[in-house]
Amino acid sequence: MNEHTFLEVNNVTKGYEGHLAIKNLNFAIPKGSIYGLLGPNGAGKTTLIRIINQITAADSGEVIFDGERLNPSHISRIGYLPEERGLYKKMKVLEQIIYFGRLKDLSKKESEKRALFWIDKFGLNDWKYKKVEELSKGMAQKVQFILTVLHEPELIILDEPFSGFDPVNTELIKKEIQLLRKNGATVIFSTHRMESVEEICDYVGMINLSQKVLEGSIVDVRNSFKKNEYEVLYRGDLGDLTYSPKSTNFEQRLSLNKSVFIIDPTESRALISELNKQVEIVSFSEELPSIKEIFIQKVEEGKNG
Ligand code: ATP
Repeated sequence: MNEHTFLEVNNVTKGYEGHLAIKNLNFAIPKGSIYGLLGPNGAGKTTLIRIINQITAADSGEVIFDGERLNPSHISRIGYLPEERGLYKKMKVLEQIIYFGRLKDLSKKESEKRALFWIDKFGLNDWKYKKVEELSKGMAQKVQFILTVLHEPELIILDEPFSGFDPVNTELIKKEIQLLRKNGATVIFSTHRMESVEEICDYVGMINLSQKVLEGSIVDVRNSFKKNEYEVLYRGDLGDLTYSPKSTNFEQRLSLNKSVFIIDPTESRALISELNKQVEIVSFSEELPSIKEIFIQKVEEGKNG
């Protein structure tokens, strides 16, 4: 195991009544990273997350947690925000956070101190003596997030952490996730919101039809799917280019001052000098496919066998 790997999933398989939910999965989650776990509905993400949380056991394979075979002593080092949220609706906010802290072995005093810190940080001061059922969805989500991180877990697993949040609170939570990583936590983040993956994840892994279909840093994954597309913004009138590249499917003019060229990277300088003769280039940039495009491509490949 690489010393920089915090969590390693080795050949993990789990079936339910004749159906394999996950099959021979291998993942390596680097320490101190934000790792996006992706996959279409039913792919097996929640099953893997439940195995890591020891809610269910794998049929075969093993999980290595910070150099040790996963065991119950690791549970207190994990913070899990499940997709199905579970707060006690009749319990008051502060009381509930302290209670969960106690369940995670914090003293009452420490639990209260941390609860008040997070309540203040998330602007919930006016709500701390209110029952959870009186909170808006977004506020309840904030409380749920606090319960996940209160015991300062080294591994934080977030399943759709932005659901129920407005754009302002989504940004707040994103910043918090980045701060937790900065302070040393490793974060596994499962979501269907691809833009947020691109924005905050360092690494990504994808499951489709119970199996891993890709894994790597966001930059490497996007680079490995690149189609050699270059987008050019320019001022002036671009007539027919005399330049004839070796590549086919050469130019798509998207608008008056914007074109996409599909060329071999070795030809980019020649193209720029040709363009320079005709127009004023405002920008010339390589277009990498988005994580969303890659996701869709992998799902389509899976359908076609
Ligand atoms: P989603 O994005 O929809 O949450 P997912 O990737 O989390 O999907 P899982 O919930 O892990 O997918 O489900 C993987 C497969 O295992 C599905 O076919 C699902 O029906 C099945 N499955 C999951 N949990 C159970 C269970 N407790 N009993 C039987 N089958 C299950």
